[in-house]
Amino acid sequence: MTIRAAVGGGPQEPAGGRGTITLVGAGLGGSLMAILLGREGYTVRGFEMRPDPRADPRAGGRSINLALSARGMHALGEAGLLDAITALAVPMRGRMIHAPSGETAFQPYGTAAWHANHSVSRADLNIALLNAAERFPNVRYSFGSKCVDVDPDTATLTLLDAATGRGTDVRSDAIIAADGAYSAVRRQLQARDRFDYRQSYLTHGYKELTIPAGADGAFRLEKNALHIWPRGGFMMIALPNIDGSFTCTLFWPFEGPNSFAALADERDVVRFFEKNFSDASPLMPDLAAEYFRNPTGSLVTISCSPWHEAGRVLLLGDACHAVVPFHGQGANAAFEDCVVLRDCLREHAADLGTAFAAFETRRKVHTDALAALSIANFEEMRDHTASRLFRARKSLEKTLHRLFPSWYVPLYMMVTFTRIPYADAVRREARQQRLVGIAAGSILLLLTLALVLCIHGGY
Ligand code: FAD
Repeated sequence: MTIRAAVGGGPQEPAGGRGTITLVGAGLGGSLMAILLGREGYTVRGFEMRPDPRADPRAGGRSINLALSARGMHALGEAGLLDAITALAVPMRGRMIHAPSGETAFQPYGTAAWHANHSVSRADLNIALLNAAERFPNVRYSFGSKCVDVDPDTATLTLLDAATGRGTDVRSDAIIAADGAYSAVRRQLQARDRFDYRQSYLTHGYKELTIPAGADGAFRLEKNALHIWPRGGFMMIALPNIDGSFTCTLFWPFEGPNSFAALADERDVVRFFEKNFSDASPLMPDLAAEYFRNPTGSLVTISCSPWHEAGRVLLLGDACHAVVPFHGQGANAAFEDCVVLRDCLREHAADLGTAFAAFETRRKVHTDALAALSIANFEEMRDHTASRLFRARKSLEKTLHRLFPSWYVPLYMMVTFTRIPYADAVRREARQQRLVGIAAGSILLLLTLALVLCIHGGY
């Protein structure tokens, strides 16, 4: 039985003169938001259902490492953590494509040395963010505290303590919910009138596996690359870790003859990897055991609106816009949310409701665009990266960018190496493609005219 106790008794004035904000979730978005709010002088009380990752780094769930790009790195810079996180990351300057024969081909992401994604351990990143957040005397997190209910009208959160089973009510000026794709706070908002909600799962799931480091921490594949084994319909990728290991992720259908469901025992697993990933499987000594030990995760896209309620509750990060991971942008977008929200709070300090509405207006159109881009990039990585036509197109895009750097920026580069809002990047890409089409058509016309003149002029 749970005992309900009122904690706090009502909104409190913080030392910094701003209000009290309750944060749900100490994942990536939540812990970065805690830092930015702490800096602004808000009193922040954070609640996370898992144990403190600083006590048990394996408690983090989700993927083991992830790629950060310009948006995420900029947000970390705003939190004063750019150098600290860069030191924990391995730069990846392009894709290393592994053919079924074992042959490899490197495709740079951009045209300059700084055009790199940064592979970082989710646990290390999360711990660095939490440590930085709790350096502010006005920021405190409680772990093992699960949000089970929300009253948006009074900004009251009901929490269940994992150790004691006790229920606690916490009231503040506002609740910011960064509790991930399966957000408990969003579920409460969904029950209210006129809340739009859409979720869609891919038929593919994912499983993480390991290529351990070689002797003395040596990298057994090219260190500064994101490795892809595109196999048409499915793929495996691998991201480097600073200890010399790689975290591989197999993206494969859940069901069907060629699927997770089809591998019944360790022999099936080894045979499947030897056939499809012949150069990787010898580097995975614990493959079969790890395959059955590690969970198979699902891949969901979530879209909802409104993101805020009664000027007192706001959703942030995956809680309002989870995307599939094929552009490596989910955490980047959650980090970008934090900076935009900080700016909205600065602009509308006296009115949280207006700040929250401004945040959704500024972000939703762009996170919707990211959702579509992320699905499209799955097809690109899985099916096209191995093709000659794809490589030729990428080379042409880079040549155009080198020749006309301010006029033509490839879409991937806009998403990954700039902070151009996602929907603006998509619009600009459409404009660029139109111009390239017109230029190509004009050149063809001129060549045809020249040929006709040559023939008729007798040259
Ligand atoms: P989360 O990081 O999921 O944090 C939510 C937190 O809330 C968790 O700590 C959770 O325990 C807590 N919580 C949940 N419910 C409750 C509750 N009821 N009460 C209290 N606490 C609660 N993004 C990238 O940018 N680059 C990548 O390379 C990348 N790779 C990915 C690979 C995979 C396989 C997956 C699945 C995702 C990847 N992402 C990547 C996406 C990224 O992980 C998410 O977008 C990011 O973690 C979102 O941050 P968040 O804070 O919104 O949610």
